[in-house]
Amino acid sequence: MGTDGPGFETLAIHAGQEPDPLTGSVVVPIYATSTYKQDGVGGLRSGYEYSRSANPTRAALESALAAAEHGVRGLAFASGLAAEDCLLRTICKPGDHVVIPDDAYGGTFRLIARVLTQWGVEYTPAPLGDLGAVRAALRPTTRAVWCETPTNPLLGVADIAALAEVAHGAGARLVVDNTFASPYLQQPLALGADVVVHSTTKYLGGHSDVVGGALVTSDAELGDELAFLQNAAGAVAGPFDAWLVLRGLKTLGVRMDRHCSNAQRVVEFLADHPAVAQVLYPGLPEHPGHAVAARQMRAFGGMVSFRLRGGEEAAVKTCGLTSVFTLGESLGGVESLIEHPARMTHSSVAGSALEVPADLVRLSVGIETVDDLLADLSGALA
Ligand code: PLP
Repeated sequence: MGTDGPGFETLAIHAGQEPDPLTGSVVVPIYATSTYKQDGVGGLRSGYEYSRSANPTRAALESALAAAEHGVRGLAFASGLAAEDCLLRTICKPGDHVVIPDDAYGGTFRLIARVLTQWGVEYTPAPLGDLGAVRAALRPTTRAVWCETPTNPLLGVADIAALAEVAHGAGARLVVDNTFASPYLQQPLALGADVVVHSTTKYLGGHSDVVGGALVTSDAELGDELAFLQNAAGAVAGPFDAWLVLRGLKTLGVRMDRHCSNAQRVVEFLADHPAVAQVLYPGLPEHPGHAVAARQMRAFGGMVSFRLRGGEEAAVKTCGLTSVFTLGESLGGVESLIEHPARMTHSSVAGSALEVPADLVRLSVGIETVDDLLADLSGALA
């Protein structure tokens, strides 16, 4: 993936995770402490003073994430949206403007459209696959182009390197939400992005047992500004949550390989199924972003969406008929999930420019035995 030094899996397992100097523990301990004994008034014994500002378990995760994304600074938050909020309020001030995908994740859209606008931030949704439309959306006050690729839930693909050029040409930053791809499949900073956003709740955590978020940047100065607001506003990842994400990161590569190969088989099954009108997956040659995805991703990911010929009714019915695929929100865990975006994850964008089709079903393809996944879908679609 165009980077020198240790490979991804080596970094994911070792970066920031030296054996514990006190005991030799191979695994970074969970430092369940709010405060640290100091040498004297105004002096520090350990480099740590209070766990909102810094905690060793969180620091290990932050270093590991920075290494995994080939950035210079990583920061771990209580959720993906807490990370997004910190980033947006650092790079935008009242009166500033951001360009967002016209199919952005609903929670990102809600944060910008309903919270940050109250603080004076302006936004323009644009189709990020169309560079002319992105250029047309830029204003002198644009501070960031916010990219998500692939997008949730429509699996749209944007060209990260081309968007970086467009954003930088306008004096704006390129932010990439890398949640769907994960750093194993896609490295936005190496392609010119300034900041990567993650919901670590998803593939990084990988086991549906934690809610978390992260920012990684290639800009040390911006990293300091983000760390300031992370501490000042305080939406940090707790030590146990940080430890769970750190544990997930170690197996990200092997999990993603299986997510991708299972997804490919699911896509082939759905593409041939008479009840399915369209399969949305960047690995399909007919996907409009296929060539870009093939260039900038190692493989095409574990998320698959499809539209049903029977419309909303068929989509809702299918979601209720699977048993290996669990009906539920979220994604990126080892277990397969199915959901109806229009009524579930994306109900917050109903009636807006970002409304998703009602006949759409989204799958987070897990790492179970693929034949069981295919049989489950076959039964639900029969
Ligand atoms: N970005 C994407 C692409 C997501 O799918 C999500 C959550 O689903 C988020 C950000 C927000 O993350 P969190 O739910 O951890 O706040």
